[in-house]
This record gives sequence, C-alpha cells and structure tokens, in this order.
Amino acid sequence: MPARILIAEDNRASLELVEYLLGAMGYATRTAADGREGLRLAREWVPDLIVCDLQMPGLNGYEVIRALREAPLLRAIPVVAVTAFSMPGDREKAIAAGFNGYFSKPIDPETFVGQIEDFLRPELRARGSPKPA
Ligand code: MN
Repeated sequence: MPARILIAEDNRASLELVEYLLGAMGYATRTAADGREGLRLAREWVPDLIVCDLQMPGLNGYEVIRALREAPLLRAIPVVAVTAFSMPGDREKAIAAGFNGYFSKPIDPETFVGQIEDFLRPELRARGSPKPA
C-alpha cells in the first residue's frame, strides 16, 4: 500500500506542486499551510513521511522537527526539509536538527518523487506503479 505523506508548506504553488507529484504516483497526501497545522495533522494522522518547508508562519520547520522528535509516536517518522533559501551549511544544520533529508527549492519535478521515496521503507514506495490516468 502506498504511503501516506504529509506536506507542510506555506507557499501555495510549492504545496500544490508537491501534492500533485506525490498524488500522481498514488500516494495519499494531506496538506498543511503552516507549521502549527502541520504538527496537528502529524499527531492526528501519523503519516509515513513528512515533507516540511523550513520557512513557515506559526511554527517554522525547525520548531516542527523539534516537536516531532520529542513525541514518542512521531519521532521515527522520516521528515525531509525543503527550503527556498539554501545557504552553505544549511543542510548540515537541518540534519543535525533531526531532518532525514534536505532539498532546496525549486524542486525538480522530474526527480523529486524518486528522491523522496528514498526515505520510505521499500514496501511503502509506489515507485514504478503510477496511478492509471
Ligand atoms: Mn515557506
């Protein structure tokens, strides 16, 4: 069964692109437009993977990852950071904060899903089985 993926992203265009790309591969997605909503949905839905923007109102990505890693039910969920403002050292900072992966925007629609799937257990991957049109 394909994974359930939560996307927390305040940029509407980025959110819709990621949602579209993952949905087209058959993933079940839910979306949050800020960090607080993302954390609430993570607690409620307990997704298999979280894609989390770093710059968000309410709670930013670093505040979200801290809360997730402190929560016994959520701390093992893989979380990948995406950021529009990538500076040298940011990847290391994100990994040190508890993110499993780090991508800078703009994401590449051709490769994004494949890269994201590396963070899912193999049995949860939809790779190679796109949803029929
Ligand atoms: Mn943002």
